[in-house]
Amino acid sequence: MALRHIRIYGDEILTKACRPVQMMTPRTKILIRDMLDTMYDANGVGLAAPQVGILKQIVVIDIGEEGDGNGNTDADGNSSSPLVLVNPEILETSGEQTGQEGCLSLPGQAGMVTRPNYVKVKAFDENMHERIIEGTELLARAICHECDHLKGIMYVEKVEGDLFEVTDEPEDGGTDGK
Ligand code: ZN
Repeated sequence: MALRHIRIYGDEILTKACRPVQMMTPRTKILIRDMLDTMYDANGVGLAAPQVGILKQIVVIDIGEEGDGNGNTDADGNSSSPLVLVNPEILETSGEQTGQEGCLSLPGQAGMVTRPNYVKVKAFDENMHERIIEGTELLARAICHECDHLKGIMYVEKVEGDLFEVTDEPEDGGTDGK
């Protein structure tokens, strides 16, 4: 298990657009594994490569799968968690949800953000197999949040009202910390 250093809001790298992954290499696979380790260690539900200082279009998401009750599945009907999204492209969104959002690059804080309640995304997995993933509620929020990171956008740009302090309750996994 290898943890990477999480870049904190204010770091210029978090404002930069990421490049697509052209080819999966052993080095990129290690990066993905490290991103998962880093996300779980920080009790987050998602992490984007720029948050560990790499300007590549890669995100990992794990909203805690079974029991989310949203029926989030991929196109084959398999529930799949964690999700590795390489070069993700949002194809479709609908609905709206407003809720608390946080970010591992802004620890201890959260804010209210409105996001689509449904997203359909096309992405490659860690073996560069193309997949279509649909998500609602928390998964839809996480996908939007992480895809924004790949464009150099932090949720604070979309927050309604002020950021507020949140107490760290890593045990319950919560909705903060992506
Ligand atoms: Zn984030």
